[in-house]
Amino acid sequence: MAGEASGVRMECDKINPFENMKKQVDIVGKKLGLDPGIIEVMKSAKRELRVNFPVRMDDGSIRMFAGYRVQHNESRGPFKGGIRYHQLVDIDEVRALAAWMTWKTAVVDVPYGGAKGGVIANPKLMSVAEIERLTRRYASEISPIIGPERDIPAPDVNTSGREMAWIMDTYSMSKGYAVPGVVTGKPLEVGGSLGRPEATSRGLVFTVREAAKKMGLDLKGATVAIQGYGNVGAFAHKLIERDFSSKVIAVTDSKGGIIKDEGLKYEEVIAHKRKTKSVVDFPGTRPATNEEVLELEVDVLLPCALENVITKDNAGNIKAKLMGEGANGPTTLEADEILFKKGVLVLPDILAHAGGVTVSYFEWVQNLYNYGWTEEQVNDRLDQKITKAFHEVWNMAEKHKVNMREAAYMLAVDRVARATQIRGIYP
Ligand code: GLU
Repeated sequence: MAGEASGVRMECDKINPFENMKKQVDIVGKKLGLDPGIIEVMKSAKRELRVNFPVRMDDGSIRMFAGYRVQHNESRGPFKGGIRYHQLVDIDEVRALAAWMTWKTAVVDVPYGGAKGGVIANPKLMSVAEIERLTRRYASEISPIIGPERDIPAPDVNTSGREMAWIMDTYSMSKGYAVPGVVTGKPLEVGGSLGRPEATSRGLVFTVREAAKKMGLDLKGATVAIQGYGNVGAFAHKLIERDFSSKVIAVTDSKGGIIKDEGLKYEEVIAHKRKTKSVVDFPGTRPATNEEVLELEVDVLLPCALENVITKDNAGNIKAKLMGEGANGPTTLEADEILFKKGVLVLPDILAHAGGVTVSYFEWVQNLYNYGWTEEQVNDRLDQKITKAFHEVWNMAEKHKVNMREAAYMLAVDRVARATQIRGIYP
């Protein structure tokens, strides 16, 4: 499995996710009656670092790489957010992702702000040793602005516990002592938390469970399609099959998709993916594209890959009743409106994808007081946080007659704006 999310990217990359985010904040800022100046604060990234750095490749050559760390807002606590490696990373994507972390941490009410990092690189074309040298050099370049009380990175697309351990080691070497709290999503052996690898998917499945109750949808036997089979998509398959006996009939990854009407078993698909590095060609299935899988006749659709896969061009063809966003920003603003009008219940990323950062928060707390929790404690506390957030968003949507995304934004932007106003504008 590649990392926190799958690297599936589709043909809609022209949409600027940062502009989308700003439009969304404008809409809810006005609805909340916020001071226009405060709306501008909410829309801006506080700090943006671009780094260009050399990495020695295995053949002895030296290659330059570029990366970013964008810190959006820290009104409610230290900056927090993942680091992704992808050949199509750009500054506006990282800005949007950083802002989404601010809203996500506010929706689930964990005391963080939002940040994101990205390196323009395709790790699938690099050796493990090259990825390690890239990770350590990037960590060293951004180390002046990260730290356990400052900005705490975590895994994202194409990164995982392995990269977090290297970042923790690099940062600790420069300090002269071990600093486990500088990153989350670490392996257990170096201060990781039980339950963190599955946390994003668990949070997603908890929101699907709560929404299904509201809709009167029985998840037992309900059909599910999952787009993206990285950490989030694959574990979502496992959990929804194991805990709710739902029937996952289609899954995809960056190489393509597979469909089986009788249902795909998680253990079998993941074994095939581990062996062949893809879900495609899994015996007994018919092939499908990522686009086709999004438009399947299913009860639940889980987009768990990258941004902008559901746009005004395909939103009208979505047939699912319930859609849980297991990726950051999979739906554009126009598509959102189309889905709302069609009556598709969309669980927005800043709620449905917040399980990862919630357990990252638990991991950081455990690191700060050097005491580990049991997996049961972690999962129970995650359930409480996500379920509470779901109902707060649901109630907000009912009260203001808006969709779940707008309601989640209203809740988040209001919390961050209030923190900003209470702290006051310095000096
Ligand atoms: N990359 C994940 C996200 O987008 C996790 C971030 C974190 O744990 O800080 O939410």
